Amino acid sequence: MRTHLMAEAMCWDLSLNVTADYACANTEFSYFCSHSVCLQEVRPKKIVNAHFFAPGMHVPGCPNEPEKSDGDGTAQKPAKRVSIVAPPAVPTELGPAKSRKGKVRKPTKVELLALSDALEGKPPCCAGTLIEVVNAWRAMPKDRRPEKQLSINDEKFTYESAFYCISEFGESPIEQLPCTTRVIHGAARVEDAENCYWIRSVKTFPADNCKVNLIIRVPKDNGITAKYMKDLLAIYQGATSFTLFYFGDVPKLSASGKSYGISKDISNDYERFVVVPD
Ligand SMILES: [Zn+2]
Repeated sequence: MRTHLMAEAMCWDLSLNVTADYACANTEFSYFCSHSVCLQEVRPKKIVNAHFFAPGMHVPGCPNEPEKSDGDGTAQKPAKRVSIVAPPAVPTELGPAKSRKGKVRKPTKVELLALSDALEGKPPCCAGTLIEVVNAWRAMPKDRRPEKQLSINDEKFTYESAFYCISEFGESPIEQLPCTTRVIHGAARVEDAENCYWIRSVKTFPADNCKVNLIIRVPKDNGITAKYMKDLLAIYQGATSFTLFYFGDVPKLSASGKSYGISKDISNDYERFVVVPD
């Protein structure tokens, strides 16, 4: 019996466990209760919190069967489920979620049973923005990082292997920085200048006959990203040392040759940088 909202189900089209939030955004796919005794089709719905419901009812005894209210025995009504807000799921993919093709036909019971066996115990697939992925990484005990899967551009990593600290980079040419495949991170300083915010890596990288920092310039008229920086500095007033996380194009040497700049669209929720105070 279930006393809370059903938050996860199997997606037949993707052959993955998914969250109700994911299903609400992808209603064209078919979802099923993952318990082998049941395997009933379920549908996503969002009133306050996203959840699944079974139009055809769960099989009696299914752990997802909603709790019945105690009545007089004539007309049992489902009890009111507690609308709990689930803690944010640990992203299994650096988003945005790929739009994938659905399957053309409905599955047979045998196929659903095989899928239920294959997915047993697997966490739901969930795409996260760079901020969500970084927050999950920071909140996770270090010894759990090698166990937690994280896909980036369809390449399978763990929360350990998907992150790369730039202090390990040595003196190699910046073209070898693995920022297009993994999330790089390292100590940085943030400066609130007149027309922009400067985010400058502490580590320097070899350039023409000298060593220069990696720099992100956020113009103050750059809507979302400028607001992100303004809010960040307001919350962490006085903080001077930060950690910069970045995923995207390899930084390019500026025209002056005095820095490596990141020119990728820094407003993109999924690929922009994240800065957190130390
Ligand atoms: Zn069920």
